Amino acid sequence: MENCIFCKIVRGEIPSKKVYEDEDMIIIKDLNPQAETHLLLIPKEHYADIIEMSDAEAATLGKCLKKLSRLVDELGLSEGFRLVSNKGKHGCQSVPHLHIHILGGEQLNDKMC
Ligand code: AMP
Ligand code: ZN
Repeated sequence: MENCIFCKIVRGEIPSKKVYEDEDMIIIKDLNPQAETHLLLIPKEHYADIIEMSDAEAATLGKCLKKLSRLVDELGLSEGFRLVSNKGKHGCQSVPHLHIHILGGEQLNDKMC
């Protein structure tokens, strides 16, 4: 997608603080952190959300989450973390390219929002 901000980050056209990259995903620092550690797991394939996600993209996303589970120590998340994916208007999704927020690095609130 030509004008998608996360596709531009994936292509290296917009700078980002990348902490991990492989053939399926990048993990970057969120520009506006909501926790001590706030990362975004961004699949390289463009699709807006889980409704638009194909079966093949779902399989890749599952692979990405498994790989994330092996990175928790180096990302400073060994004490735990929260994964969030906002969808649509009620979910307050602002970037229509599926991404998973990774929040941690401190004790999070026990409320979800
Ligand atoms: P959402 O509102 O769930 O779609 O999340 C989008 C997230 O992307 C927000 O937390 C923003 O702070 C973050 N964001 C937007 N632009 C950038 C950028 N250029 N680099 C890093 N994070 C960004
Ligand atoms: Zn995109």
